[in-house]
Amino acid sequence: MDIPAKARAVIIGGGVVGCSIAYHLGKLGWKDVVLLERKQLTCGTTWHAAGLIAQLRATQNMTRLAKYSQELYFGLEEETGVATGFKRNGSVTVALTEERMEELRRSAAMARAFGVEIDEIGPSDIQSRYPGLKVDDAVGGVWLPKDGQADPVNITQALAKGARNLGVKIIQGVKVTDIHQADGRATGVMTDQGPIEADYVVNAGGMWAREIGAKAGVAVPLHACEHFYIVTEGIDGLTPNLPVLRVPDECAYYKEDAGKILLG
Ligand SMILES: Cc1cc2nc3c(=O)[nH]c(=O)nc-3n(C[C@H](O)[C@H](O)[C@H](O)COP(=O)(O)OP(=O)(O)OC[C@H]3O[C@@H](n4cnc5c(N)ncnc54)[C@H](O)[C@@H]3O)c2cc1C
Repeated sequence: MDIPAKARAVIIGGGVVGCSIAYHLGKLGWKDVVLLERKQLTCGTTWHAAGLIAQLRATQNMTRLAKYSQELYFGLEEETGVATGFKRNGSVTVALTEERMEELRRSAAMARAFGVEIDEIGPSDIQSRYPGLKVDDAVGGVWLPKDGQADPVNITQALAKGARNLGVKIIQGVKVTDIHQADGRATGVMTDQGPIEADYVVNAGGMWAREIGAKAGVAVPLHACEHFYIVTEGIDGLTPNLPVLRVPDECAYYKEDAGKILLG
């Protein structure tokens, strides 16, 4: 697809964030929105995500955003026809110390204030929700029935399809090389295939956002950090559709997927 000479908004980056912005601008009725991805959609961090959809967050805005995302992803497959792998299998977060339990209670109170369904549960309830888990050192935990998991690549493709259906142009294989400015604001971008004039330039470059921001003289305080997970072989007798399990005292999360466990 050729790049246009002009657009109302240019979004830089075709990860889940850029595609979500494109989708939401389309929903708001914006015309002439262009998303530029230097390689292909999801090729950045999005490709690696474990796909956990979690609503228990540290701040009010993150809680509201996470609750909204969970609700959006629930209906996205039906809206776009792209299978997202979304499962509302719930999540259990376990505290191994009184201090952690106190922290969970505080987060739960904030989540409840924003309408997130969340229950405090004891060790025996944890075990009934997660059969096979050893709970003799657990103080307690919280259960979020509407948390879940999804395939991050397909969620992004679904958002991209929804955006395209709303008239957004998504162009892959185009790298933004500079940001044009006048009177202290962005007026467009230079790409490896020529310039685009724009009223708005959106930096959705993920871990590259810092270098993209620097092209416009903006310091984006982002630094990439390492995060990895392992996936086991198939485990005989594993209960299907286990909830997502988090044990923050051990810095660990567990996701059941097709008879295997992803541990991150
Ligand atoms: C191992 C791992 C597990 C994770 N698990 C989870 C999880 O379970 N749940 C969760 O919510 N989050 C998880 N995350 C975090 C999540 O993956 C990221 O927050 C999310 O993918 C970031 O999306 P993004 O769109 O901001 O960035 P990216 O997906 O990195 O997208 C940025 C895009 O910008 C493009 N780009 C960069 N520079 C330019 C340029 N100059 N011109 C054009 N395009 C450009 C890149 O090619 C890239 O595609 C995990 C992350 C990792 C690493």
